[in-house]
This record gives sequence, structure tokens and C-alpha cells, in this order.
Amino acid sequence: MSGDHGSAAIAGRVRHVEALLEQRGLLDDGEIDRRIDEFLAGGSPINGARIVVRAWLDAGFHDRLLADANATIREVGLSMAGGLQEQRLKVVANNEQEHNVVVCTLCSCYPIALLGPSPSWYKSEAYRSRVVRDPRGVLHEFGLKLPADTRISVWDASAESRYMVVPRRPTGTDGFSESELVGLVTRKGLIGTAAV
Ligand code: FE
Repeated sequence: MSGDHGSAAIAGRVRHVEALLEQRGLLDDGEIDRRIDEFLAGGSPINGARIVVRAWLDAGFHDRLLADANATIREVGLSMAGGLQEQRLKVVANNEQEHNVVVCTLCSCYPIALLGPSPSWYKSEAYRSRVVRDPRGVLHEFGLKLPADTRISVWDASAESRYMVVPRRPTGTDGFSESELVGLVTRKGLIGTAAV
């Protein structure tokens, strides 16, 4: 496959640039590996779930999160600056009128810091191409049946911009503690392919 050749060529070029940066003292030995390890180690859907639950419990946080997600997630000790460059994050919230779902049509861009490594279906050609054309049909296949009058917004991630969904808080959870609520929020819920 040309894709494999492409990524091998890119990996070769990245190693070459890395070696040059190290030679010139701009980067110390292994710095990139350490930064990537730190980044991946911190990434988990629990982070996204914590953000969602805070938004459910605190209307001010909810509004700040939708207006400026990068700044607001720092309030709970999280950030999109784990890589070499901060990624722009936009958080979108489901409500009675609108359901949101995230895709990267070009490749597999994903907010790893908040959701951990992406599931294989997210990277699949079938999901990436079909969710844009027929979001309702794809969500139906995931077992999510939305009312016919619910609008579906599809958000296309890119190298610069990542998205996360705030699912609707399930009914009957009024007495739940914060940690019980966190336990309800799934990775699919944060992508928009499940209700929570
Ligand atoms: Fe991508």
C-alpha cells in the first residue's frame, strides 16, 4: 500500500530532522520520545468524562467550556498543550434540538489528551466517509436512535482543531455523586456515537 510507504518515508524524514536538531543542540537526546510518552500516558477518556461532569454540575463552567475550551479545561488541571504545540479544542454540547458527532474525514485527528488513543472504528474509512454523508444512519448502526426532529451536526477534526462532545446528562441521575456521574460517560459519548 502506498500509505505504508508514505508513513515509512515520513518516519525517515522525522528521524533525520530529529538528528539534526540534536546535533545542533536544539533538542536533547530522546526529548521527543519523552514528550510523546508523557502525552500518551496522560490521555484517557476519564479526562473527557471529568470535563463533561463538571459542565453538567456547573453552568458557568459549561458556558466557559463552549466559549473557550482550551482555557476552561485548565480549570480542572487539563490541557491540550501536551504535544509540541497546543491544539485548538472546541467542545460542543448535545441538547434536545441538536446532537453532535466528531470525525476526522482526512485521517484520524482526535483529542488524545482528553480521550486516550482513538478506537479503530474512528480511523476506519467506512466511518470517516459515511458519517458525513449519512450521520443518522451511522448513529443508528451504533445503536443510537435519535428523534427524527433532532438536528445532527458533524464536526470534522484536523491537525489544528480537535472536538469533544458533551453528552446530555441522563435523567434519573439527580442524586448521583460526581464520581458516579463520571462513570456514566463513555468514550463513544464523548465522540457522539452514543448517548452518554
Ligand atoms: Fe486527522
